[in-house]
Amino acid sequence: MRIDIITCLPQLFESPLKHFIFQRAIKQHLLSINIHNLRHYTPYKHDKIDDSLYGGDAGMLLMVEPIANCIRALQKEQNYDEVIYMAPDGEPLTQDLVNKCSLKQNIMVLCGHYKGIDERIRKHFITLEISIGDYVLSGGELPALILADAIVRVIPGVISDASSVLADSFQDGLVAPPAYTRPYNYEGMMVPDVLLSGNHKAIQEWAQQEKVARTKKRRPHLIEKKEVI
Ligand code: SAH
Repeated sequence: MRIDIITCLPQLFESPLKHFIFQRAIKQHLLSINIHNLRHYTPYKHDKIDDSLYGGDAGMLLMVEPIANCIRALQKEQNYDEVIYMAPDGEPLTQDLVNKCSLKQNIMVLCGHYKGIDERIRKHFITLEISIGDYVLSGGELPALILADAIVRVIPGVISDASSVLADSFQDGLVAPPAYTRPYNYEGMMVPDVLLSGNHKAIQEWAQQEKVARTKKRRPHLIEKKEVI
């Protein structure tokens, strides 16, 4: 899979992309991530990419031309399954959406900044808008990294034990069960005995009950959704 990210702050990606999950996927040739500096595509002097808003509202907006030039230049090199804009009012990012994105070959991800981007880009160039939640950040870089991290870990082969990914929260519409590791007894707080029983069936039944109970408590809307289906 190939992810092309368009940003006016390329340096924000340097350290996160050195993180082992990205590096592992890149080394295994399962992923390539390319960062494109929006300022290299502006026709304006002094690397200008933003301007004040028509209508008089405060703040600056990313201009049409640098973004359009960058998207078109990338599209000349290859086809993209999606041109994504990270937007507070986009489609909420869920595991379902992550899984769908992970099946694509090439995606482009545009990070906004300041007050966002000119509406004409959203209307004429963007095929999918994704939000990481109903709150506003100062740029699309962290949302883009969140999207990329979530995608990378579900690409088959990146995490060697696929069953570990499938057992994570939300993959089956429920949250994950409680998890324990050594020691068995920490200051009188014990690990549930069933987990040491060696009885695989009993462990699975316990985990399923815990998942349902936790989901009812923490994400009741997921249980309602499952019951409707
Ligand atoms: N004026 C806009 C907010 C712009 S925030 C509004 O009121 O909707 C600047 C940029 O940060 C956006 O262009 C977007 O790319 C990114 N961003 C901020 N919050 C985000 C969120 N919750 N999800 C995804 N991207 C977000």
